Amino acid sequence: MSNLDTAPHPMLRGGLEDVPGQPVHQVLTSRLAPLGGSTVVRRLLPNLGRRMVGAWCFVDHYGPDDIVDQPGMWVPPHPHTNLQTVSWLHDGEVLHRDSLGSLQTVRARELGLMTAGHGIAHAEQSPARHARLLHGAQLWVALPGAHRDVAPAFEHHSELPTLHSRRGLRATVILGEIDGSASPGTTFSPLLGVDVALDQGADVALPLEPDFEHAVLTMSGSVRVDGHALEPGTMLYLGSGRRELRIEADTDSGLLLLGGQPFDEKIVMWWNFIGRSQRDIEEARAAWMAGDERFGAVHGFDGAPLAAPDLPPGRLRPRGRTR
Ligand code: MN
Repeated sequence: MSNLDTAPHPMLRGGLEDVPGQPVHQVLTSRLAPLGGSTVVRRLLPNLGRRMVGAWCFVDHYGPDDIVDQPGMWVPPHPHTNLQTVSWLHDGEVLHRDSLGSLQTVRARELGLMTAGHGIAHAEQSPARHARLLHGAQLWVALPGAHRDVAPAFEHHSELPTLHSRRGLRATVILGEIDGSASPGTTFSPLLGVDVALDQGADVALPLEPDFEHAVLTMSGSVRVDGHALEPGTMLYLGSGRRELRIEADTDSGLLLLGGQPFDEKIVMWWNFIGRSQRDIEEARAAWMAGDERFGAVHGFDGAPLAAPDLPPGRLRPRGRTR
């Protein structure tokens, strides 16, 4: 998935200022952003109120949309650097193509994990024959400096560990480890992503790593997270210092629990690139526009690649992690 903003500003993210050392409740509401095709997303991260949760630096929630007579998702080839993308669906499917030659349909509660590293290009679309409903989330994970230029890779994991240890709970480990169950997905920093499906009436306490900061995104249903009622499409940032998290479901519900060690490096994000400096961004943009082998080519997509927007004049605007 792509940031289709046609006039993005480079912004500095990360660093440990403004990471609360204790549990907090901070409600993050979304803003709408076009994605391509008929898809409009609710963008939760980056948010004016918070820019990262651990290494999670970009979170879009979309649907559920009825796309029975529509193209659904249609995101032409575009590049990424220094990050991983996570595709996660509750309904429907997304067809992923990338410049490594990967061609993979990602279905509900399967992990599509792309490591951009030094550079990759990919396209995502609803397959020609698709389910009626499309509902999912697209997330980016910033790579730490020691690994930011690793070789690009794509992983598809259709079998992920699940927790059924509490009544009414089915948790699927997307990345990282919880309660002794670990995802096979490759990570480069201490990180957690868990899909939490709850039956109506479920009241569960999930064990948390107190050194991590956490947030919950509600995708469907009606839940209370640590006593706080959350509507679908909103995120609750929880701070750090928690050993467990209580979630009560008033209806059948679906959530994402995201967490990680606070990301202590400053990163620059612009369009679909992450770097450490404006120069990194300028080099990545120039390489993409020149068709450089850094990103390679996506074959088989019926459409032209996305052109990078113009860089804004002047230097990047330094932004803290919360503003
Ligand atoms: Mn993308």
